[in-house]
Amino acid sequence: MKPLYTMKLTMNFLAMSTLCSLIMFSSCGDEDDPVVSNDTETTEDTTTEDTTTEDTTTDDALDFATLFYGAERVTIVGNFVEINTLDLPDHTSPFYPESDPLYAAYAGDNADFSTVITAGGQTFDPEIAEQNYTLKIPINPAVKSGSKSSTSGGAIGVALNGVIIYNQYNGANELLDDLEFNNTDEYNGHPTPNTGGYHYHKEPLWLTSSDKSALVGYLLDGFPIYGPEDESGNTLATADLDEYHGHTSATAEYPDGIYHYHCTDDAPWINGGEYYGTPGTVTQ
Ligand SMILES: [Zn+2]
Ligand SMILES: [Zn+2]
Repeated sequence: MKPLYTMKLTMNFLAMSTLCSLIMFSSCGDEDDPVVSNDTETTEDTTTEDTTTEDTTTDDALDFATLFYGAERVTIVGNFVEINTLDLPDHTSPFYPESDPLYAAYAGDNADFSTVITAGGQTFDPEIAEQNYTLKIPINPAVKSGSKSSTSGGAIGVALNGVIIYNQYNGANELLDDLEFNNTDEYNGHPTPNTGGYHYHKEPLWLTSSDKSALVGYLLDGFPIYGPEDESGNTLATADLDEYHGHTSATAEYPDGIYHYHCTDDAPWINGGEYYGTPGTVTQ
């Protein structure tokens, strides 16, 4: 399925007429559009600028809605995709309330793991709580010329399962240390002490459990984030990437090539502290 999303995202218009009907038919045919079967049969004969343009608009919304499978609502607004999410992980966590079906005791290999977080001389035992985020990110991300925008505390992106992504710093704007990662569960996430808002600072391990080069989410600037393996299966480190923690190449979703971030095992894990492109907005 992934190559289909790609073509649309990259606005490969020649490929669009063929792909649109396939995407609509396979991904979304159960929702609304009985007309698609006609498109499928007549694709090659009916390629015109008009139909291609219309299909592109429609399919953009359908594609992102499928990609962001954990989002509450995905809407195309002009050149942006608006992702509304409750920020609730779709995997188990020891940070869920014990009454929650997704609560499970910690199953990772960190002997020092604890749900009890110490911060600012106080201790907290936070539980995951529903949030209401709306992220507005560019559909066709562009390199920001001149000085880049720094990331800030709070959401800097969103994973495909709807979980918010934070940068590499703690509340005091210092690089997170091993001690603080004693409070992340086996999927690299944890809730904030005050709001219970769950987030990842590192590779979302749930989303790379079967494919270490998988697309895992997007930063606010619209550039995609992949797992720690590159397109040839090499495991990357920060030293293999530029200062924003990415590089440009073709990917499964973007066969024509795109700038993208990679997760790595070493700091800063997902992003270098500045967006490569112009960030969209996030409201809560
Ligand atoms: Zn955190
Ligand atoms: Zn790559």
